[in-house]
Amino acid sequence: MGLIVQKFGGTSVGSIEKILNVAECVRGEKERGNQVVVVVSAMGKSTDQLVNMAKEISEQPNKREMDMLLSTGEQVTIALLSMALNQKGLEAVSFTGWQAGIMTEPVHGNARISKINTDAVQKQLHAGKVVIVAGFQGVTEDGEITTLGRGGSDTTAVALAAALNADKCDIYTDVTGVFTTDPRYVKNARKLLSVSYDEMLELANLGAGVLHPRAVEFAKNYNVRLEVRSSMEKVEGTVIEGEATMEQNLVVRGVAFEDGITRVTVLGLRNSLTSLSTIFTTLAKNQINVDIIIQSTTEEGAANLSFSIHTDDWIPTLNVLENNKETLAYDQLDAENKLAKVSIVGSGMISNPGVAAKMFEVLANSNIPVKMVSTSEIKVSAVVEEKNMLKAVEALHEAFELGQN
Ligand code: ADP
Ligand code: ASP
Ligand code: MG
Repeated sequence: MGLIVQKFGGTSVGSIEKILNVAECVRGEKERGNQVVVVVSAMGKSTDQLVNMAKEISEQPNKREMDMLLSTGEQVTIALLSMALNQKGLEAVSFTGWQAGIMTEPVHGNARISKINTDAVQKQLHAGKVVIVAGFQGVTEDGEITTLGRGGSDTTAVALAAALNADKCDIYTDVTGVFTTDPRYVKNARKLLSVSYDEMLELANLGAGVLHPRAVEFAKNYNVRLEVRSSMEKVEGTVIEGEATMEQNLVVRGVAFEDGITRVTVLGLRNSLTSLSTIFTTLAKNQINVDIIIQSTTEEGAANLSFSIHTDDWIPTLNVLENNKETLAYDQLDAENKLAKVSIVGSGMISNPGVAAKMFEVLANSNIPVKMVSTSEIKVSAVVEEKNMLKAVEALHEAFELGQN
């Protein structure tokens, strides 16, 4: 007998009919003789609806109360799915994050899972029940409810699979697997049969919303067998594993993209040695993630610093920079909104020089100005204007021959 963790996302549980379909899928796994833990998201767009209600009250709602609010979405689904399973003659029990022993660090809105006490889940599994766990939520040591960041139910599932030493974690969603790029935007995107943990981690971090980046991190660190597959169609999905073995290892495997990026430039930093650490330490303390960083020196010996952030963080970033103007000793601030990041990813890049060159050539031929660049061993990212994002994605997808034959 094996232990399988199944995760169903918002669209897959978006109506009573779909919840009944999920119950069927769980029954199938149970009938194959496995123990089953099911992690579910909130129904359909209900998390967005909760966010919008809060925003009607306040531009920046209290983060603790926001977690209290958002965690209710998943609680609806766990109870309904448990009832649906009962109705089909299966014994099931639903657990909120804290009941399932999911402990997190004390951060609201984007908490990391710190440990999982699986006793309660295991007890119910041994009693023969299907255990249904609310995704996206946990509890701090002080008993405060936290959430794991948008899309975080994937992370609940993979972390539980790791903690329970499950045989497999299946992520059921509204696409049939991981594609060469988002199939919602690029019609000839191709499904990958397998992708490596490292490639998937880059793709997820660079905007491929099909998996939460921390879920991939857990899968990699604990060697969880992970598959992304459709909750509607019974077809093979995409396996995420140590090495992508099942098909030819193309140099570029996928194109990821995200909009809502802002470039911030701090001009004339006179004391760049201490200013750099002050700026980035203060931003980090304010939970502001900085992505690409570029520094150049002026003829007068001062430094100009540019970095990219999510546009949502622009106001707090501006506050940090303005409140510390004296200590930082800079001349001027500049920013550009409405930017996007387009990235190509593939582990074959390590041994293939010229991939970045080709990317810039493709963008230049498409008349797309590049604003910032960053690279790692297995990816190249270019920041472009938001209006050029999809054009860039399509051109790169085509040039690196990622589409269906
Ligand atoms: P769920 O609610 O099941 O968690 P998500 O909306 O979070 O579903 O993730 C699935 C979506 O991810 C797809 O509908 C697709 O538009 C998007 N997506 C982005 N990049 C990719 C990709 N490379 N492959 C597949 N889907 C992708
Ligand atoms: N319901 C949460 C969200 O919409 C978590 C998830 O679906 O993974 O972000
Ligand atoms: Mg998701």
